[in-house]
Amino acid sequence: MSRVVIIGAGHNGLTTAFYLARAGLKPVVLERRAIVGGAATTEEIAPGFRAPSLAHAIGQLRSSVVRDMRLESRGVEFIRPDPRLVALDATGTPLVFSIDHDKTAEAIRRVSPRDAPKYVEFCNALTRLSNFLAPLLAATPPSLDTPDRADVWELVKAGARFRGLGKKDGYRLLRWGPMPVADLVSEWFETDLLRAAIAARGIFGSAQGPRSAGTAALLLLNAATDPAPGGSSITVEGGPGALTGAMADAAREAGAEIRVNAGVSRVVVRDGRAAGIVLEDGSEITATAVISNADPRRTLLTLIDPLDLDPVFLSRMRNYRSRGTLAKVNLALGALPAFTGVTSNDMRGRLHVGRDVDYLERAFDASKYGEISAEPYLDVAVPTLSDPSLAPRGKHVLSACVQFVPYRLAGGRAWPIAKAEILSNVMRALDTYAPGIESLVEHAQVLSPIDLEETYGLTGGHISHGEQSLDQLFTMRPVLGWSRYQTPIPGLYLCGAGTHPGGGITAGSGQNAARAILKHLKS
Ligand SMILES: Cc1cc2nc3c(=O)[nH]c(=O)nc-3n(C[C@H](O)[C@H](O)[C@H](O)COP(=O)(O)OP(=O)(O)OC[C@H]3O[C@@H](n4cnc5c(N)ncnc54)[C@H](O)[C@@H]3O)c2cc1C
Repeated sequence: MSRVVIIGAGHNGLTTAFYLARAGLKPVVLERRAIVGGAATTEEIAPGFRAPSLAHAIGQLRSSVVRDMRLESRGVEFIRPDPRLVALDATGTPLVFSIDHDKTAEAIRRVSPRDAPKYVEFCNALTRLSNFLAPLLAATPPSLDTPDRADVWELVKAGARFRGLGKKDGYRLLRWGPMPVADLVSEWFETDLLRAAIAARGIFGSAQGPRSAGTAALLLLNAATDPAPGGSSITVEGGPGALTGAMADAAREAGAEIRVNAGVSRVVVRDGRAAGIVLEDGSEITATAVISNADPRRTLLTLIDPLDLDPVFLSRMRNYRSRGTLAKVNLALGALPAFTGVTSNDMRGRLHVGRDVDYLERAFDASKYGEISAEPYLDVAVPTLSDPSLAPRGKHVLSACVQFVPYRLAGGRAWPIAKAEILSNVMRALDTYAPGIESLVEHAQVLSPIDLEETYGLTGGHISHGEQSLDQLFTMRPVLGWSRYQTPIPGLYLCGAGTHPGGGITAGSGQNAARAILKHLKS
């Protein structure tokens, strides 16, 4: 039986391992950290307090993966909060985004009778566009140089679906993608907070502001997995680590071996083919195929000898953008904070901090010049409201994704000082909506983009293994000509978020990669 090595036990690596093992291969998954899960983990931040270390929402995991891995019968309890998002307002009139669009429209009507019906119309348009886009996310991008029959068939089907969209939606799809998301939301809505809450989905995790061209494409990409404008707030009991723990169990049961504390230092290339890996302790494992869940830059620029790669490919890879702008703040709180005008039930989903599009753009501006946003855009969750087991009785965990924090600080400033500044900016922003919250903080963890790189292996600290911009998506993810999970080195494949369809806890890349790799290995 041929041995296959998978570098990294993120949720995509585990998904690929599962499908390969189910097909009869013998994958060995090698994870550098002591735990599996990558960016989807739950870890202790203070005695008795466990937080979603990085990602706090799951979104949306493919239902076919949930079914194939039998995640629910392995004890994974999905939590689907309703409302899913609350956009905070300092004067006490937050916008509450329920699962039911009509209910959300009723909430919007109180601030803008004009925006209420437009919201429903926008949701319906996003749903129709997502019906067109979702099959593209599930497919292997076509080969542009030598399309095979399957590629042509997929393109024919996409053409038929495009025609099915009709003239109005077809025009929307072509026009919206390249637009700045700020312009898109201002064409639809007049309410500043509504515009900002929707625009945020086009910049989350990205090194772009709402006025950057092409940010509407990220909104569309995210909508293709979950068309609600506010995004997913789904999580699981025990946090994301409980999900990836169950995925690891499924992969093991299917026949995969998973080793932790097993960092890979090099991919061995013999006679032009990937022939195995060398671990950080110097031991070698031979394999007929090596699949990397690590990001494309890490895989192709640090684990491979540059002499094994063509210079044109190398220069494309060096130009692949993966500078992150997101920091994470996890707080252990002595009690539940009170957010003005927000009930504790409404806090079960995510909370949006960013009052208008200008606020979001200014937060981005700072990072362009190596500065930390004084007034950051925050995406917040209080997971203990739905899952009290994460903290001691009566206490809470608050998880905040903080934008924008540059990967490289201006003026050579030291990170310990910068991290104190990030925390103080976050506390000030939260205090605007939850006065006195700082007095509840028992412990604070701040993870900078450098921590994301060094501790979690995300090169450049990018949460999606590379910018999700129009020039790095679909047939160009990670680079033009290499979007089909293969690399220029025969036997070396990619399966992480740096491949199509990209970031988020969807298992999309891992499942697509497994299908393409199995097909390739059999051919
Ligand atoms: C702060 C933050 C917040 C986020 N918020 C959300 C959210 O709310 N919702 C959402 O859906 N998504 C969110 N994301 C994005 C999402 O978590 C990621 O896109 C996704 O988890 C990537 O999964 P992956 O399996 O492709 O890679 P990863 O999870 O990055 O896994 C890669 C694995 O490879 C390992 N590895 C790397 N190099 C080596 C090596 N040399 N040897 C061995 N192992 C190696 C790493 O340790 C890691 O375990 C967030 C991400 C971050 C960082």
